[in-house]
Amino acid sequence: MTPRELLKKTTIRFREAGVPDPETDSAQLLSHLTGRAPLMLRLDSDTRLPDFVVDGFEELCAERESGVPLQHILGTARFYGRDFHTDARALIPRPETELLIELAVKHCRENHMICPSILDLCTGSGCIGITMQLMLPGASVTMTDISQDAADLARRNVLRYDAPVRLLTGDLFEPVSGMRFDLILSNPPYIPTGICETLQREVRDHEPRIALDGGEDGLFFYRRIANEAPGHLKHGGMLMLEIGYDQAQSVGELLENAGFTDILIWRDMNGLDRVVTGRAAEVDDVR
Ligand code: GLN
Repeated sequence: MTPRELLKKTTIRFREAGVPDPETDSAQLLSHLTGRAPLMLRLDSDTRLPDFVVDGFEELCAERESGVPLQHILGTARFYGRDFHTDARALIPRPETELLIELAVKHCRENHMICPSILDLCTGSGCIGITMQLMLPGASVTMTDISQDAADLARRNVLRYDAPVRLLTGDLFEPVSGMRFDLILSNPPYIPTGICETLQREVRDHEPRIALDGGEDGLFFYRRIANEAPGHLKHGGMLMLEIGYDQAQSVGELLENAGFTDILIWRDMNGLDRVVTGRAAEVDDVR
């Protein structure tokens, strides 16, 4: 069988099995096995694939059909142009989250911050903190996560890129008590508990609930971050949060009530509200 034939057949099969991106996923899986570019494979109606490749491909397809996310099968996910180790221990890095990086890097560059101190809360795979460190080599980046599993995965990614970050395990700000930062970034869990069960099976059954569940109204972590962040930001420091598409107003209000100024809402490439940013008004030693 040729790659073109095999991919055509598999695309139909995936579509019937309810795989969301049948064409992309089948080509990615075959590319993973053969080391050849997905587009080349799609066009190749000359090469005869050896049986061991067809058999190996069948195994991967069965896994994908059963709902295992593509990135878990590949073992990596691409984020801001780099591959990050990915497995069931943490959330798979999402393209929407790249907006947070874009805004944070732009903020640092525009304000000539050569050595900013940056905190990445709920770091998961570490994709945000590590990317910031690699984009701004002078930065000192601290990353925290409550999950030891996530921290173990993040450590693999830290080693993959030899990133000189500090990785700490603990509940939100707990591991950084007494420390202040120029910039706090986070993509906290923000799905309302009741919605978690209705997510697509790839997410519901294979990504850690602790990385998704934002409490009854989805705002549990934003409330905590809004209240605690002022005590961990330097004068004029910035808080940048990824949000769910319908949470901009609520999160904006939480920041306003916590004394943040210059609150802005940013849209992602799909035109959905995705990030809220705010500036810490003044150093607040009370909290
Ligand atoms: N910071 C990680 C990410 O953006 C994990 C986020 C999370 O677990 N909620 O992918």
